[in-house]
Amino acid sequence: QARSGGACNHRFFDPAMNAAEQERLVLEHALHRALKQNEFVLHYQPQYDVPSGRIVGVEALLRWQPPGGERISPAAFIPLLEETGLIVPVGEWVLRTACLQALKWQQAAHPPIRVAVNLSAVQFRQAGLVQTVRRVLDETGLDRRCLELEITENIALHNEEAVISTLTQLRDMGIRLAIDDFGTGYSSLHYLQRFPVHKLKIDRSFVKDITDAKADRPIIKAIVSLARNLGLAVIAEGVETPQQEEFLRSCGCLEMQGYLFCHPLSSEDIENRNSVWQLAR
Ligand code: C2E
Ligand code: MG
Ligand code: MG
Ligand code: MG
Repeated sequence: QARSGGACNHRFFDPAMNAAEQERLVLEHALHRALKQNEFVLHYQPQYDVPSGRIVGVEALLRWQPPGGERISPAAFIPLLEETGLIVPVGEWVLRTACLQALKWQQAAHPPIRVAVNLSAVQFRQAGLVQTVRRVLDETGLDRRCLELEITENIALHNEEAVISTLTQLRDMGIRLAIDDFGTGYSSLHYLQRFPVHKLKIDRSFVKDITDAKADRPIIKAIVSLARNLGLAVIAEGVETPQQEEFLRSCGCLEMQGYLFCHPLSSEDIENRNSVWQLAR
């Protein structure tokens, strides 16, 4: 087995391989190990209904700290998980872990919150996705209404009928569906009418520019009214400043997530900080 033993280290130092290929192979090897050795953890970032300060949900975010190494950002390793197909078993681990955590918090009598789990387009195209989600929910016992799946517009690039069928099955199970990074994808608005989703997540890049350039203010307003007219919920991600909060509130976007309120935290930190469960506003 070329990739799993110390005896095969020459694979990594084949002179025909360029440095980037070697680095990639080393990382891929490390990711296989990470899954086997439980090196992944989830952090959770609260989402608030800002006027009331009520926590409404948490987004589960994957973290990887290789032993003895620096923490690596999901932006760096998730594409590789996708290319290698490892995102499928890792994604199932994420889903199960997030559901168990949400259940644990419910049993500890915390306010009932929803947990949002990111799904990559690769997972979404897997034939067994719906069955996997159903099985994980059955095995963990989490109320289906407490699970939200975040998908990106890019799932719509291929085979629209299959996408609609998968989304419909998930919705019919009682799961909530949110479109993540809304406004940055490649698809048309046409799918919004056809996809049975519940919520739009305004991408951080638009929120960022509220302070910088004011250029994206009309876009945010347009997304919020689009959501309202389609009967969809809306949340803004990446809210970092009081000006951004103020502008979003003035547009009627009342659910927010971002460093202004709370960074992503380990489950222990979430449990131990009372301020997480209710914002002092
Ligand atoms: P995302 O789903 O759009 O997640 C939001 C990202 O914004 C997270 O980055 C979060 O830490 C960061 N963030 C939150 N608040 C703020 C803020 O106020 N300012 C700024 N600048 N950033 C903020 P993170 O954790 O590095 O994740 C990056 C991306 O990796 C995620 O973007 C998501 O696409 C992907 N990802 C993370 N976990 C998973 C996972 O379990 N499965 C899959 N398929 N993708 C994941
Ligand atoms: Mg997300
Ligand atoms: Mg996002
Ligand atoms: Mg984003």
